[in-house]
Amino acid sequence: MSIRYWLLALCLSSPLQAYAEHLASTYLRSAEESAGTSEKVIRYCVDPDWLPYEAIRDGKHVGISSDYIQYIQFHTPLKFSLVITGSWSETLSFLKNGRCDLTPLLNKTALREQYLHFSQVYFRSPNVLVSLMEQPFLQGFDNIGGRILAVPKGYRLAEYIHHYYPQVQTITVDNEPEGLEAVLAKQADLFVGSMYSVNAYIQQTGFNHLKIAGWGGPEDELRIGVSLGNEALLPIINQALETISELEHIEIYRKWNNVTIIDETNYRLIYQIIAATLFILLLLGSRTYLMIQYNRRLTSKNLQLERLHQQLEEKNTELEFLSTHDPLTKLYNRHYFDRHFMDDHRASEHVDPAICLVMVDIDYFKEINDTNGHSIGDKILIELSAVLQHCVRDCDVVARWGGEEFVILCHQSSLPLIQSLCQRIVGTIREHEFSDGVHLTCSFGIAKLMENEPMQSCFERADRALYRAKVQGRDQVCVDEVL
Ligand code: GH3
Ligand code: MG
Ligand code: MG
Repeated sequence: MSIRYWLLALCLSSPLQAYAEHLASTYLRSAEESAGTSEKVIRYCVDPDWLPYEAIRDGKHVGISSDYIQYIQFHTPLKFSLVITGSWSETLSFLKNGRCDLTPLLNKTALREQYLHFSQVYFRSPNVLVSLMEQPFLQGFDNIGGRILAVPKGYRLAEYIHHYYPQVQTITVDNEPEGLEAVLAKQADLFVGSMYSVNAYIQQTGFNHLKIAGWGGPEDELRIGVSLGNEALLPIINQALETISELEHIEIYRKWNNVTIIDETNYRLIYQIIAATLFILLLLGSRTYLMIQYNRRLTSKNLQLERLHQQLEEKNTELEFLSTHDPLTKLYNRHYFDRHFMDDHRASEHVDPAICLVMVDIDYFKEINDTNGHSIGDKILIELSAVLQHCVRDCDVVARWGGEEFVILCHQSSLPLIQSLCQRIVGTIREHEFSDGVHLTCSFGIAKLMENEPMQSCFERADRALYRAKVQGRDQVCVDEVL
C-alpha cells in the first residue's frame, strides 16, 4: 500500500491524523522533490549501547526509544528505517554528514544545534556519579578534586564538563558499560552517566562493588533530533509526542527498565560461580571419598581386632582348661587341686568343717599295661575316671593326682558316709566292663580333715591309709582313724 493511500485513510479517522496528513504531505512533497521518489523512509541512527534507553541487539533497535519510534510510526504517516552504527560517536557523525536523518533520544547542546534540530523534551533522567564502594559520597563535580572521571565519547556530559568544569581530569570511554568497567579496573575513580542505564547495568552484571557516589550534573532532557534539512518532520513528531499519555510513558519506562541483558560479563560471572561450585563439590566429594575409605579400613581393622580378641579369649579358655585339667581323663589335675585345696591360705577362704579326702590307686596297673598294652591302659584310666565322676556327688571334686592315682575331695561329709561311697565305687568297678575285658580293682585311703589341720597333713594321712590298703592285700578301703 502506498504512503499516499495510507495517509488518506488516516485523514478520515481523526483530527490529529488529518493534521498529520497535512504536515506529512507537505514534508513528503518536499522530500519527493529533493529525492525524486514517491516515498521517503526516514533513516535513523541510535546509540548502539545505551540500555535501557536504546541499543542495537541482533541488528534490531531495542530500548525505550524503540517504543517511541514505533508509537510515532503507528500514529503518523512517517516510516522509519534503522541505520546500524557501531558507537554513539559514529551515530553523531552519520547525522552530521547526512547518512542519518534522525536520532530518537538525546540532549540538546549548543554544539549539536549546529547540525540538528530538536523536538520537545519527552523523557527526563538524572545523571549520577559512580565509584567503587570505598570512595566517599560526592556533592557534584565541584568535589571531584584530583579524581579521574570517565565520560562516554560524544555524550552531552563530555561537552558540559569541558565547558563548566575544565579543571576535572577526564578520560574518554566509548560507551557507558566501558566507563563502569574502567572504574572497576581502577583506570578511573568515577564514571558519570544516566542513572537508569547505570542502575540497569549494575543490576544485570552483578557489579556490586560499585555504588552511586552522588549526582552528576543537570538531568538529561531527552528529545528527538533531526538532521538539517529534515526539520519539516518536527511538527509531526511533536504532535505525536504530545498525544502520548503519562500512563503510556510509564509503561514504556517500566518495560525497558526491567530488561535483562545477558552479556559476556554475565557469562563470565556464571562460569566463575559454576567453576567455584564444582571445585567445592570436588573438594567435598574427595573428602567424603577419603572418609569412606578411611572408615572402611577402620571397620576392617576393628573386625580383625575383634576376631583376634575372640581367638585370644578362646586360647585363654583353652589354656586355662589345659592348665587345670588332665589332658587324658579331662579330670582336674594336681595343679588345680594344689591351687584350690592344698594352699592353706586359699583353703581357709572356704572353710568347711566336714571335708574328707579319698586317695584312690589302681591295683597292679603296671601288669595291666604290660599285658594289654599302654593304649588299653590309657583307655582304662579314662573309663575309671568316668566311673569315679559318676559315683560322687556334684559338690565333690575328683582329680587325677598322677599316674594311676586319683584324689576325691568331699564337702559336707563324714567318715561313714565316705566309707559307704568308697564301697559303692568298689562295687561299681567290680561290675564295670573295662576295655579288653580287663578285670580292675582299686585301693582306697580315707582321712577326715580335723579342726585347724592343714590340708597337706590330711592328705598325708589319707595316703597312709591307702598304703595300708595296699599292704593288707589291695581291693579294699582303709580309713585313717585318728585316736
Ligand atoms: P600297685 O598295686 O602297687 O599300685 O602296683 P602298680 O603296678 O599299680 O604300681 P606301680 O607304681 O608299680 O606302677 C604304676 C604303673 O602305672 C606304672 C606306669 O606304667 C603306669 N602308668 C602311670 N601313668 C600311666 C598312664 O598315663 N598311662 C598308662 N597306660 N600307664 C600309666
Ligand atoms: Mg601308684
Ligand atoms: Mg597302683
